[in-house]
Amino acid sequence: MFENLSERLSGVFDRLTKQGALSEEDVKTALREVRVALLEADVSLPVARDFVKAIQQKATGQAVTKSITPGQQVVKIVHDALIDTLRGSDDPGALRIDNPPAPILMVGLQGSGKTTTTAKLAKRLKEREGKRVLMASLDVNRPAAMEQLQILGTQIGVDTLPIVKGEDPVTIAKRAKTQAAMGGYDVYILDTAGRLHIDTDLIAQAAAVRDVAKPRETLLVVDGLTGQDAVNVATEFDDKIGVTGVILTRMDGDGRGGAALSMRAVTGKPIRFVGLGEKLDALETFEPERIAGRILG
Ligand code: GDP
Repeated sequence: MFENLSERLSGVFDRLTKQGALSEEDVKTALREVRVALLEADVSLPVARDFVKAIQQKATGQAVTKSITPGQQVVKIVHDALIDTLRGSDDPGALRIDNPPAPILMVGLQGSGKTTTTAKLAKRLKEREGKRVLMASLDVNRPAAMEQLQILGTQIGVDTLPIVKGEDPVTIAKRAKTQAAMGGYDVYILDTAGRLHIDTDLIAQAAAVRDVAKPRETLLVVDGLTGQDAVNVATEFDDKIGVTGVILTRMDGDGRGGAALSMRAVTGKPIRFVGLGEKLDALETFEPERIAGRILG
């Protein structure tokens, strides 16, 4: 489907005069191909443009080493720059959850995979870090969402806050806090309600919960296949609620991963985890190398 960037660039450099160092003209020509590759990987146009501009200076004048072709050399420069941009922190999976019970707030649009990701994260914290986790659904709009989380909790052996009909999200958040403290839990995860679009009610509700829960981490769950939309959603949530990290779901799909680059470049927020399937262990720490490889094709 997509021609590999390395192959594409070898073609470009075959047409150029070989010199001892990468000339400005060589680099410019090559970076045009890089920009196309980025756009095909669903990186947004302004981000692709800025990114290419930044590496243009870096690449120009670099000595062409004998061991690799100029095409491979540009790919390596681009690859390293992608990793630099994508890497939000050295250990994206390390959440600030010392000082128990630590609240984690999960936010995102309906259908982004928020409830599934809540359970995946709980399972991971329990199994890999030996944490005692409590999960609570604050989705009073959709009673089925509360039951969904309860069922997931049973599947993974993680406790959920008992459902009390008629409570509002802030009351549930307070009850979760009390229960987490009394029950000796290390972490409690609050799964907020989602909507199809961001609206003032959704934001007001999430903000009210944030104010009482004072989350140590506010993790935004976004569908990694929605490209530029995912970035817009993240920008808005971060402006209104303030997020500490992003989880990209559906990265098992055939998207090229460009949303991850746009996400980092535009919001500046670290991507912590990626969802790689519907199974409850399909959550992995974000690895910039893997996404860089995918973007370059
Ligand atoms: P919510 O409305 O945001 O809470 O979304 P759900 O957690 O109910 O997830 C919606 C659908 O997306 C479910 O069928 C999930 O199994 C599926 N899903 C969630 N994360 C992933 C993922 O990383 N990959 C795939 N392929 N499906 C996912």
